[in-house]
Amino acid sequence: MTTYYGKGVFDAIAIGKAFLFQHQDRPVRKYCVSNIPRELERLKAAKELAKKQLREFHEKALREVGEATAQIFEVHMMLLEDDTYNTSIQDLIETQSVNAEYAVSATAESLSITFSSMEDAYMQDRAADIKDISDRLILCLGNAEKETLKSTEKMIICADDLTPSDTISLNKDSVLAFVTAYGSPNSHTAILARAMNIPAVIDVGFEFLSAVTNGMQIIVDGHTGEVMLEPDDKAISKMLSRKQEVMRKKELLQELKGKETITIDGRKIKLCANVGTADDINTALENDAEGIGLFRSEFLYLENKDYPSEDMQLQAYRRVLESMAGKKVIIRTLDVGADKRIDYFQLGKEENPALGMRAIRICLTRPELFKTQLRALYRASVFGKLGIMFPMITSVWEVERILAICEEVKSELRKAALPFDENMELGIMIETPAAAIISDRLAPLVDFFSVGTNDLTQYTLAVDRQNAKLEPFRDTHHEAILRLVQLSAENAHKHGIWIGICGELAADPSLTETFLRMGIDELSVSPPFVLPLRDAVRKLDLSK
Ligand code: PEP
Ligand code: MG
Repeated sequence: MTTYYGKGVFDAIAIGKAFLFQHQDRPVRKYCVSNIPRELERLKAAKELAKKQLREFHEKALREVGEATAQIFEVHMMLLEDDTYNTSIQDLIETQSVNAEYAVSATAESLSITFSSMEDAYMQDRAADIKDISDRLILCLGNAEKETLKSTEKMIICADDLTPSDTISLNKDSVLAFVTAYGSPNSHTAILARAMNIPAVIDVGFEFLSAVTNGMQIIVDGHTGEVMLEPDDKAISKMLSRKQEVMRKKELLQELKGKETITIDGRKIKLCANVGTADDINTALENDAEGIGLFRSEFLYLENKDYPSEDMQLQAYRRVLESMAGKKVIIRTLDVGADKRIDYFQLGKEENPALGMRAIRICLTRPELFKTQLRALYRASVFGKLGIMFPMITSVWEVERILAICEEVKSELRKAALPFDENMELGIMIETPAAAIISDRLAPLVDFFSVGTNDLTQYTLAVDRQNAKLEPFRDTHHEAILRLVQLSAENAHKHGIWIGICGELAADPSLTETFLRMGIDELSVSPPFVLPLRDAVRKLDLSK
């Protein structure tokens, strides 16, 4: 048994089999495999899948474009059976104990070099074919695994790291836990794991990836951050009893369902949930959230291959509002950019994406995109109690521009006789130091503030939220952050608007009393934290 230590981001325990996640859009990763026959089996399954795909392409090409073009796929099928190609891949796996993806990629590279250096133009062209079939085979290695993942028991996803789009594309029903070599607790992937109610440990270090193999038994302790490979019987029984203890605590919290979020001395706050997907809404309801304090609408964009249309968005927002049956739902407009990259946005490479074209900056630069979302939101407002909030605000002019665009959208809807809620609340996120510092100027313009402590921490402390190495410098309780929250709360109340916190800090029970004393009106947290936080609030007495 070997134990690795990382950071637990969701307090739950999982015991199960490992599944090595291969990014399909990244360079192939090399790692050691201990079960060589199994790796050869994977290769065989992937080859079968690749052949099946090529046969289908061949038939389609014959039907649609004729025999000459269809021949390309015949050549590819022959290459897949080529002895030199296959022997090289197999030898690499057997002699160097490497993963099949790496063996395919290394073989492709060396054969491509050989073919490209030949005089004969026909042979030179084969270099591209080798590359093509190898890319297909690598893709099939991932897909064959994914098929396994779908059809069998739940597995523990092990990866170097996971982007928000990787995480969102995983089928939640097949995932038992996440373990990543890198990553930071405030990253969107960690936030997603929490919202999905899945044990997760991040930043366990790169060595973990060379030790873990597909199908290996692992224990993931999302509380202590321990990840045990091939645990012995003693470790398994200890973990099983810890797991029961965690379950017992959760059962006790069920008694708080339907109860008010109120302190002993009668101070009531609104306790809401942060969500990003339809699944999260169910978890929010199961955990008795009093509303949705943050709906991260960008996940709708991340899940799609192209810009979601106004109607598609309208249906999605309508479903959320109807599921919440009259409870307040605050939908945040698109917050892509930084770590949330979406190909079809073509954002281009930026030196400092967290300080780059992100969130409201994209919306104000591309008003048509923004207006499509706003129209969908306004039209959805008749199906429940909707509020809209805008991310990454730094300046008064931005809010003025947003409000002007909202007015344009409203007058267009009126002209088209499309109904909407005239009294819908509009708020902004306080997640940059600039917004907190000028909160006295911003408050008169909006109906509420919602503090995004994840970004407020990143921008105030100049600590990249994606960079795990900066952990010692990421003091989420730093006085500067707490003072900015306090200042925003004072300015909100001075101007008669309410203020909530929707960053991860809202769920930190060691700060609940501080936030309540500051006058925070709403806390919005990942669904599994709703009941523990209600418990913490109900034990507080602010009169003391
Ligand atoms: C925040 O920054 O605190 C926040 C809630 O937004 P996100 O984590 O989606 O950036
Ligand atoms: Mg943010």
